[in-house]
Amino acid sequence: MRKPTVEWQVAGACNYDCSYCIVSRRFRRGRPQRQQLDLAVAFLASLPGRWEVKCSGGEAFAHPLFMDQVVPALMRRTPHRISVLTNLSADRRTLMRFAALTRGRLAVLSASLHVEFVDPAAFVDKLCWLADQLEPDASVVVNQVVLPGLEDQALACRDLVQTQGLRWFPQLYKVKRSKDQRAPGQDPMRVADYPDAAALKRVLGGLGGLGGPRRANLAPSYFGRRCFAGVDYLVLDKDGDAWACRTAKRHGQGHLGNVFDGSVVRWTAPLPCPYHLCPCTVPANRGMIAGVGH
Ligand code: SF4
Ligand code: SF4
Repeated sequence: MRKPTVEWQVAGACNYDCSYCIVSRRFRRGRPQRQQLDLAVAFLASLPGRWEVKCSGGEAFAHPLFMDQVVPALMRRTPHRISVLTNLSADRRTLMRFAALTRGRLAVLSASLHVEFVDPAAFVDKLCWLADQLEPDASVVVNQVVLPGLEDQALACRDLVQTQGLRWFPQLYKVKRSKDQRAPGQDPMRVADYPDAAALKRVLGGLGGLGGPRRANLAPSYFGRRCFAGVDYLVLDKDGDAWACRTAKRHGQGHLGNVFDGSVVRWTAPLPCPYHLCPCTVPANRGMIAGVGH
């Protein structure tokens, strides 16, 4: 069943600076202003039915208005469920407030483990503490990018996370292709090379095989499959632009309008996917792509 979802980049800026961040430092900036946030929430409130609004960044909690304006407004003015993708750097008091504010409406809390900035044991301890404050039907998941050459470090993190009964969700590292490395129409991103296939298998094998999009983000291709991106799945960026999906945005396609000027129009019917890389598991796991993740 399709679960309508908006991924909202509440802020471009982030308080971390991971060496492997998919968003280059140059673009990892910017925070919508109060009035722009208000317009974004008004757009979300206008969506028919109950959607999942997945707030991300940059780092959503690093936006000073996330807790004081965005979360309360989503709760008050929309019927939607809220999810958040966070590096879990917010202080415990803020996280406790978030848990209280979203009670009854929290869908997924995705916490990204960035070992360049946090001690994994301290991260897991904080997440267990937070999970105890959340309602039982909220999903909690730990995301981690598995870097080539650092598979054993990822393996140790995976075991630490799973020992605490938490779900660990690995992502393969994606790198950008420069313009001269790219054939016409080819995706600007690709999965990095993993020279040590056995090491990668050790990490992913503990998940019961490579599995589908619920087990790991392997950035597959769904080329040609019917996809509801642009219809029941949207990406809303920090500049207020709405896109059919992340890949479409990278290709400069699938622009649906801008929420700041009220011009967003969703597509009315699914289309065959024209791309060869679907780097984000949200559309797959929300039933947007024919034959995937149902
Ligand atoms: S926490 Fe996420 S958004 Fe921030 S620098 Fe690291 S990878 Fe990028
Ligand atoms: S399958 Fe993935 S890449 Fe293709 S249109 Fe859908 S969301 Fe975009």
